[in-house]
Formats: sequence, structure tokens, C-alpha cells
Amino acid sequence: MASGGVKRALIFLGPPGAGKGTQAMQVARVQGVPHLSTGDMFRDHVGRGSELGLRAKPIMERGELVPDEIVLGMVEERVARPDCANGFVLDGFPRTIPQAQGLDALLGRRGFGKALVLHIAVEYEKLLRRLTGRRTCATCGEIYNIYARAPKVEGKCDKDGGELTQRKDDREEVIRERIAAYDRQTKPLIEYYRAQSGLVDIDGAADADAVTREVLVTLARL
Ligand code: AMP
Repeated sequence: MASGGVKRALIFLGPPGAGKGTQAMQVARVQGVPHLSTGDMFRDHVGRGSELGLRAKPIMERGELVPDEIVLGMVEERVARPDCANGFVLDGFPRTIPQAQGLDALLGRRGFGKALVLHIAVEYEKLLRRLTGRRTCATCGEIYNIYARAPKVEGKCDKDGGELTQRKDDREEVIRERIAAYDRQTKPLIEYYRAQSGLVDIDGAADADAVTREVLVTLARL
């Protein structure tokens, strides 16, 4: 992620179902930097039954956002680890203006340049289909879609045979609330980052591999 000697944080911004997780995972793999998904971190806390997980669980089940100070504390702690020293890919964070401001301050303190933001746009109907069809490998976190990117064997991960699970918040009534939360609280970040001239628009309508190619070509040009 070092570009011109400046270490960078890359942010994937977009509504739930835009493909942020899939793309962030691929880019992090190619660039050899960590993929930091705040949603995955919360799901991990919930799974372990930690204090943070107990606070986050009911909020996540309603499709609402966890309070900013909790998210910021968790990200700050993760970014302080040595594997993030040369850059990292953020997925699902920041999601509010205060989180973006907190991230700006954090990057400044850690000697990072301005974050680079890839905004992935996808139309509403497609988002619904992607979210209701999404399945995740319980072992490695690989993401599939039963409509568009089905595994070779139903219910099993192609990579390690792990069981494919559906997220609890990928049910339709929760999905509607998550998209509403995005429109209300996260969409303003598009203009926030556009004004900082660190935002690039990516059309997320194509299949995942085509979007990855566009993302990598875009990053190579920057
Ligand atoms: P995701 O996997 O990114 O869709 O996140 C799943 C859920 O975790 C969200 O619906 C929120 O409840 C919570 N969450 C994840 N990231 C954040 C964040 N940056 N700010 C607030 N809540 C978050």
C-alpha cells in the first residue's frame, strides 16, 4: 500500500451488499496488508461472548450501528498492531462522520498519508439479492453467493470444505434497516471524502472478479 513512500490506509465505502468485503479481502491479499473488517471484529466478539460482543449483539441484530466510541476504540487498538505499520484495508469502517474524523486523527498520529477511498455503488434491487444470497465460510471467511457465485458443492467452501453459513442480519427485514442506516449515517461520507479529493467511484454492478480487476487497475494508476 506504500505509494510514493507514503503508507496508506485504503477504505472501501458502499452500502451493505456492494461487495466491500469480497473486494477488500482480494486487495489486501494482493497488496500483502491486513484486511480490517469492523463487522468481522464485532462478529468475533459476539461469538466469544466478550463484554464488547454482549453490547454489540442486540444492536447488530436490529441492523443499527454500534456507537462510534466503541468502534473507534476497537479500530485504534487493531491499527496499533505491527502488521498494520505499512498500510491496511478497511471494510465497513468508517460509517459515520465522527468515525471518519476519528480515523483522520488516528492516521495523522500514526504517520499515515490521507486515506484513499474506493466508493462502490450498486443499485438497491441488486443489493437485496446479494445480501439474501450471501453465504460465508465458517472456517476461512470466504464469501459466496448462491445466485451469482455459488460454491461447487452446495453448503461447502471450495477452498477448505468448511460449512457455509448465513449471517443472522442478512434476513430481509434487517437488511432494510441496514440499508436505511447506510443512507442516513454513512452516505454523507461520500461527500466528506470527495471534498478531501481522496475518493474514487467504482461501479460495483459487475461480477466480483470484474470489479476486482477494475479496483486493481484503479489502484495501479494512483
Ligand atoms: P458489516 O459486516 O460491515 O455489514 O457489519 C455488521 C454490523 O456490525 C453492522 O450492521 C453494525 O451493527 C456493526 N458495525 C460494523 N462496522 C461498524 C461501524 N463502523 N460502525 C458501527 N457499527 C458497525
